[in-house]
Amino acid sequence: MKKELKGNYSFEDYLEVFYMILDKKKMNRTSERYNILREIYEIEGHFSADLLYSKLKNKKYQVSKTTIYNTLNLLESFNLIEKHHFTDSYAQYERRNTMDSHDHIINLTTGEIIEFQHEGLQKIIKEIEKQYNIEVSHHSFTLFCYNNSQS
Ligand SMILES: [Zn+2]
Repeated sequence: MKKELKGNYSFEDYLEVFYMILDKKKMNRTSERYNILREIYEIEGHFSADLLYSKLKNKKYQVSKTTIYNTLNLLESFNLIEKHHFTDSYAQYERRNTMDSHDHIINLTTGEIIEFQHEGLQKIIKEIEKQYNIEVSHHSFTLFCYNNSQS
């Protein structure tokens, strides 16, 4: 039941929003920030700040960890990426695709992360929105499991 999840944001869409954020924050549109955004856009699935850093280093880009963390925080605060704390270890990030919201199952035995979508959840969210008269911008729902020792 693993489903291929594809986003509908193009890189140009992403960049446009990113530049709007930078302007709003009175931050410069540097090539360092551009390269970080480009790399984030190209990574499929979940990634850590360290992985992002090493990918950029491999491409011989000038980039500091501080800028990476600052950029990740910035993107997160504007909901362009999602920050997950799946386990006690380092945070994992993921690019947000507005069209394709999904949830996670974490296998704590193997560390495997399964992404899923369930229509029922959307229905529940709609009901809660109505009940509390709110508009949900995004949500986080994570299920944890262990390997069944019987199998
Ligand atoms: Zn995910």
